[in-house]
Amino acid sequence: MLLRPAVNGRTRALCSGPHGARSARGRSGRVSPDRDVIIIGGGHAGLSISKYLKDDGVDHLVLERNRIAHAWREERWDSFRLVTPNRECRLPDFPYNGPEPDGHMRKDEVVDYVEAFAASFGPPLHEGVDVRALRCVGSYAFVLETNRGPVRARCVVVATGAYRDAKVPALAGDVDANVVHLHASSYRNPQDVPAGDVLVVGTGQSGSQIAVDLHRAGRRVHVSTCGAPRIARRYRGRDVASWLEVLGVLDRDVDDGPGAFDADARDVDLRAYAREGMLLYGRLTGARDGRVFFANDLVANLASADLAMDRIKDAIDAYVARSGIDAPPEARYRAVWQPAGSVRELGLARAGIRSIVWCTGFAAAHDWIDIPAAFDERARPAHRRGVTLVPGLYFLGLPWQHTRGSARFFGIARDARFLADHIRASARNRAIENLENGLHFR
Ligand SMILES: Cc1cc2nc3c(=O)[nH]c(=O)nc-3n(C[C@H](O)[C@H](O)[C@H](O)COP(=O)(O)OP(=O)(O)OC[C@H]3O[C@@H](n4cnc5c(N)ncnc54)[C@H](O)[C@@H]3O)c2cc1C
Repeated sequence: MLLRPAVNGRTRALCSGPHGARSARGRSGRVSPDRDVIIIGGGHAGLSISKYLKDDGVDHLVLERNRIAHAWREERWDSFRLVTPNRECRLPDFPYNGPEPDGHMRKDEVVDYVEAFAASFGPPLHEGVDVRALRCVGSYAFVLETNRGPVRARCVVVATGAYRDAKVPALAGDVDANVVHLHASSYRNPQDVPAGDVLVVGTGQSGSQIAVDLHRAGRRVHVSTCGAPRIARRYRGRDVASWLEVLGVLDRDVDDGPGAFDADARDVDLRAYAREGMLLYGRLTGARDGRVFFANDLVANLASADLAMDRIKDAIDAYVARSGIDAPPEARYRAVWQPAGSVRELGLARAGIRSIVWCTGFAAAHDWIDIPAAFDERARPAHRRGVTLVPGLYFLGLPWQHTRGSARFFGIARDARFLADHIRASARNRAIENLENGLHFR
């Protein structure tokens, strides 16, 4: 059995938020007349470009199938915290200005922040509008098929999120039928997980946070690790995120490549939790006859996470030495636990495992966009900084859209500004073209 998200967002459509008084949300019937620009998605990406277009006086509409900030509201677990510090929450003209710049917002605080951002400018927003298909058509460039009827637009910004669909490996289908499956996006809290041991698969941000959540609730947690890096929260007297900022890591351009280390990492020391009884294994490789199988790579996975952390510290040390700033030296991490051996298989019933939480990633879903020229041969958006080869079609909120900080609270403003400028310039060119054509035909 595969559990679906606890709340189906579509049933929550049309709920009001604090920005309601100023938004143009429709409650029934047709969405609105055709528009110059339509933004699909009311997450922080869609709202950010709406803010700039509104400032610039560009006619537009934001269509959101659920409520704004839906992903934060309904697709994160109760104890979720941002891994990025509050200081890096820099929505357009609306930076975090609370009392804890080095803190990490909880899920509800993130929702409040996004709602307050929307309230700050009143986006022309229609909630409860599901765009089910997008096509190119005649003189209006695009038609959007929605649950409220078709709408046409000259420009479309697809801001539907890069983390929409749960990714679960095919081998999940080979797991014993009695086991309950959840994905990170449908996990809420330990109480919702059937009694018994839990297997968490994946140790990126989601898997690490969820494993710790279950462990702290007193559950026995088995964790299948992967090569995901980890990151220290503080080093040499400062939050590591602030070091990464001075090192320019978040501003790295897509053409520069990811650089020597991964800054998207978790700060969870799994070895410390293993000392407290968390059971760690290598990568999950298969399932058969009520058993699951692991690769012999636990030692390597833990080592590679530590190595990633050390590489960042090396870069910080080098920066401190170069710049001569005052930052107290700090001893390096010493592994607090080592695996005694390598467990390669586990009988689920025997171990008492009644549920599996798949923390195996997310995927964007763009199959409703019927414009082949907007995609590459692997069905990924084909774009340069969000601008596609299809005139008037844009993507916003893609990871590495332009820099490492793209799509996050840190970098979305820059990408949104770039697209808003592009849209405005295109509209100007179109107006000139129309004028020229008009003169020509007269
Ligand atoms: C587990 C996890 C942890 C993260 N942690 C951080 C972090 O610590 N810091 C950070 O900066 N970023 C983080 N991110 C990344 C990123 O900030 C979020 O994913 C963010 O939600 C992306 O914003 P968005 O507006 O691009 O997409 P979303 O928030 O997903 O918004 C897209 C919106 O589009 C709507 N939509 C989708 N399809 C349609 C359609 N066809 N018609 C109409 N509406 C539609 C959805 O309902 C949704 O509201 C994290 C992401 C994940 C998954």
